[in-house]
Amino acid sequence: MTLGPYNRHQSDRKKQAALAAAFPQGIRCQKCLEFGHWSYECKGKRKILVRPSRTQVLKKNLKAKEEAHCRQVLFINIL
Ligand SMILES: [Zn+2]
Repeated sequence: MTLGPYNRHQSDRKKQAALAAAFPQGIRCQKCLEFGHWSYECKGKRKILVRPSRTQVLKKNLKAKEEAHCRQVLFINIL
């Protein structure tokens, strides 16, 4: 037995319903970060998320630690 067009349509609808249940806000495009369509259907422009790189974060943390250390040393010197 093969699936007729009607059955295929039914399974597509089921898939859509399952997706809607899994993503209450709607599906989200990974390209333009808008809701309601997939990235392969996207007609928008790619949005690039600017995130600090791991090294930048590490350097920042090191700097903060250094500053805290300097403050401690200063405090000890004052005492
Ligand atoms: Zn999009």
